[in-house]
Amino acid sequence: MFTQSLTNLQEAYLLRTLHRTESAQDAEITIKGKTIILFSSNNYLGLANHRKLKEAAITAIKQYGFGSGASRLLSGTMSLHEQLEARLASFAKTAAALTFNSGYHANLGLIQTLVEELQPHCLVLADRACHASLIDAIRLTKARLKVYQHQNTEQLERLLSTHAVTEARNSLVVTEGVFSMDGDITPLPKLLTCIEKSSAMLLVDDAHGIGVMGSTGRGTIEHFDLETKIPIRMGTLGKALGCVGAFVAGPHDLIQLLINRARSFIYTTAPPPAFAAAALAALTILETEPERREKLWWNRDYMLSNLKSLGYNTMHTESPILPVLIGDPSRTLQFSQRLFARGIYAPAIRPPTVPRGTSRLRISMMATHQQSQLDYALDVFRDVGRSLGIIA
Ligand SMILES: *Cc1c(COP(=O)(O)O)cnc(C)c1O
Repeated sequence: MFTQSLTNLQEAYLLRTLHRTESAQDAEITIKGKTIILFSSNNYLGLANHRKLKEAAITAIKQYGFGSGASRLLSGTMSLHEQLEARLASFAKTAAALTFNSGYHANLGLIQTLVEELQPHCLVLADRACHASLIDAIRLTKARLKVYQHQNTEQLERLLSTHAVTEARNSLVVTEGVFSMDGDITPLPKLLTCIEKSSAMLLVDDAHGIGVMGSTGRGTIEHFDLETKIPIRMGTLGKALGCVGAFVAGPHDLIQLLINRARSFIYTTAPPPAFAAAALAALTILETEPERREKLWWNRDYMLSNLKSLGYNTMHTESPILPVLIGDPSRTLQFSQRLFARGIYAPAIRPPTVPRGTSRLRISMMATHQQSQLDYALDVFRDVGRSLGIIA
């Protein structure tokens, strides 16, 4: 019954399949018994398999068991959830914070709640490259949505002045701190100036910025030193922090409102308390081992400069996400498969995740990559790129 759709995907080189990993999430993983160097993980700081996170989770399981048994508003709020939320508030330098089961849940609940406050006549403006969870969240509200070209603050300003100012709409601007497929950073100071006149609300999804950006890893808002200017933060715990889940940090009344309104917070079982114990351990490592972030950035600079000298188009990345633009989905897939055959896992990113004609490989750097692994990968990139005629 569903084979036609699958065949269509296959013929367009857009069929996706799962790749089973048989080992822990480290710089090298095992797939089908073979050792592969991993370049597709958001485990930027290498915390996912860190001894201290594992120990914290095991200790929590011994004391509190595994499951939370109910939603947060029933009996599912345990002391570890609250400890983590207090810690996240101080991490984000806000009055309060609330955790969600995932970044997807956080975006659904936060956008729903913000739009309900801004309705009727709410206008949402989102960067074209925004993550699917943001777009889905906006679509679920009945608010009007205008999408602006990626990073085009002039267009955003025009849209705000025609729609928000003249039609007297309340508006919400949605963007990412670090864009997950391009690796570029939103110029937040410029964005703030451009939304000032319309007094639009700003939501920055910093899934890829937390733990990576800023002088102490507090994210893109810290990177631009705007912690007092942007009151609402959203970040995830499953990427650089190596755990699972997400948080919204902000003023006390916003957090109380989320507890009362956000459906993705209310109508779901609370995450296991051990998740909070692991996240607390991850935050401690982030604060006490800045050398992890330094190593991540060293690895990133090394890989990026060498990919550029090989002649690859790495777009405008400013982060440890290194896109390698190929264009056509079939060649991108072929590239990724040849890398894989030589022990490198760098996924082919194709539409609908990225716009047509911009299929690319996406290399994610980690603090735990060894230089010898990077040198090996660069040799393979040179050979495969030449054999496919992508580089000279
Ligand atoms: C990964 C990601 C999310 C979703 O977070 P999960 O915790 O994985 O559900 C949301 N927004 C962006 C920009 C992301 O990259």
